[in-house]
Amino acid sequence: MNIVLFGPPGVGKGTQGERLASETGASHLAMGDILRAAVRDETEAGLQARAFMDAGKLVPDEVVVAMIEDKITGDGGFLLDGFPRNVAQAEALEVMLAGHDMTIDRIIFMDAPEKNLIDRLSGRLICRACGFGFHRHYSPPRETGCCDRCGGELYQREDDREDVIANRLHVYQEQTQPLLAYYQDKQGFRKLDASGEMDAVYAALTKAVKD
Ligand code: AMP
Repeated sequence: MNIVLFGPPGVGKGTQGERLASETGASHLAMGDILRAAVRDETEAGLQARAFMDAGKLVPDEVVVAMIEDKITGDGGFLLDGFPRNVAQAEALEVMLAGHDMTIDRIIFMDAPEKNLIDRLSGRLICRACGFGFHRHYSPPRETGCCDRCGGELYQREDDREDVIANRLHVYQEQTQPLLAYYQDKQGFRKLDASGEMDAVYAALTKAVKD
């Protein structure tokens, strides 16, 4: 199955998407993770992307479209998380998929009130080694600063600082929210309330995928 997950930053696309992908065998294509890996490895795309990411702005379409095209294959299905993030990217995705004779089975819009998003983003901690996510209050690590899974060091993403969060939410309203009008009448569109507990949201997500 091929799935697109979209919604505001902090809504839980990454956490929920990773779980869904691991349980269905689909490849989890998280645009933010792909970009952060490129920045870390100092690839040409990573060098182009870095300043945009640190400022909470969208990386130019031609950079992200080329990066995602490299990752989409016909094997086992995919779960796109964080791509597309504007209408131009959605159109590029359609062209790309048509060229590979592939279609999207589900387009799932996850949403939650802004207060929840700010709360989730500002308390988020990520493991530098394995990428697993924690939250200072809602899912703290057993030992402060240390990943439960692998013992790696936890850090706060540069763009999870409050000033950058405000910018990301603004960019979302301006550029990503119009995707809702683009997708909502398409076949396979589902809307999900992602304001609840993690397990409840996951149950609603799996239902949206099956129904
Ligand atoms: P995320 O991890 O999904 O919150 O993404 C982190 C940052 O990566 C965003 O704030 C953007 O700077 C960049 N980014 C992720 N996905 C895209 C995309 N589809 N288009 C442009 N920039 C993106």
